[in-house]
Amino acid sequence: HAKAMGKNNCQFYSVELNQAVHQHLMLEASLSRAIGNHEMVLGYQPKVDLRTGKVVGAEALVRWNHPENGMVPPDEFIPVAEETGLIVPLGEWVIVEACGALKALDKLGVRDFVISVNLSARQLRQRQFAAGLARTLKRMEVDPRNLELEVTESQLMDQPEEAMEALAELKALGVRLSIDDFGTGYSSLSHLQKFPVDYIKIDRSFLGEVSHDGHAVITRAIIALGHSLKLKVIAEGVETLEQLTFLRAHECDQMQGYYFSPALSQHSLEELVCSDARLRD
Ligand code: C2E
Ligand code: MG
Ligand code: MG
Ligand code: MG
Repeated sequence: HAKAMGKNNCQFYSVELNQAVHQHLMLEASLSRAIGNHEMVLGYQPKVDLRTGKVVGAEALVRWNHPENGMVPPDEFIPVAEETGLIVPLGEWVIVEACGALKALDKLGVRDFVISVNLSARQLRQRQFAAGLARTLKRMEVDPRNLELEVTESQLMDQPEEAMEALAELKALGVRLSIDDFGTGYSSLSHLQKFPVDYIKIDRSFLGEVSHDGHAVITRAIIALGHSLKLKVIAEGVETLEQLTFLRAHECDQMQGYYFSPALSQHSLEELVCSDARLRD
């Protein structure tokens, strides 16, 4: 009896596995078509300076407007794009699109605005990545200081020495660099000190319950650590006034989150930034 069950289980698993492989292949094929078909869209989530209240930048977040499935969040296709290498053309598209948004803001008279894009380790490991980025910035006539690249702490720590070299090359171009999801990737402090970055972004899991002492202690420690290394600290996933008040009290530099705004279309971002500037002039 047990043997028969085992056999059945085995069949069951292999059917499941085939389905998973099939889904993966379908996803891979449609993802590679999607980039050419203009099914990818970027949302821009505003970043606010906590001292002045000014909108100083935005993070570009990719979405897939799938013809049948509607909006697909990045967590559902970035891993497949990474495995298959499709992240390279997708990542290039994201950078060109973000440069286009910077260019449009510049035409509207907005200067000193920083748009960040997320990078995968696979992009960072490409031999000619920095050289290609330099060409794109030149072609798009974008000042490197207006572009920020976010890499997660865990991706950096995967091969820290190689990552450090790649970051140094990018830093030399004049772009800004940040460590994303900080606090979840186990950096050693000696590595952290050597990464040539400008910002660290506190992972939103630490912000979740700022009212609970344990989390508040970690958030405060990350802010202090960042400042002692002369880095600016950005909090992501800010959803409540309580979190905002806490961050201001502890001199966190910038924040982004649903409390202020979700990711916006390029057009809505332009409207927000221009009206924000008008209110202040
Ligand atoms: P991330 O870079 O840490 O981005 C922050 C995520 O938190 C975004 O999810 C954003 O929509 C979400 N978020 C923002 N504010 C709040 C808030 O107040 N509360 C909560 N609960 N969530 C908030 P999203 O857009 O689903 O992106 C998820 C991840 O996908 C990103 O995490 C990033 O790692 C990756 N990703 C997005 N776009 C790209 C891309 O162009 N390239 C690469 N390689 N990865 C990307
Ligand atoms: Mg990010
Ligand atoms: Mg993050
Ligand atoms: Mg994340």
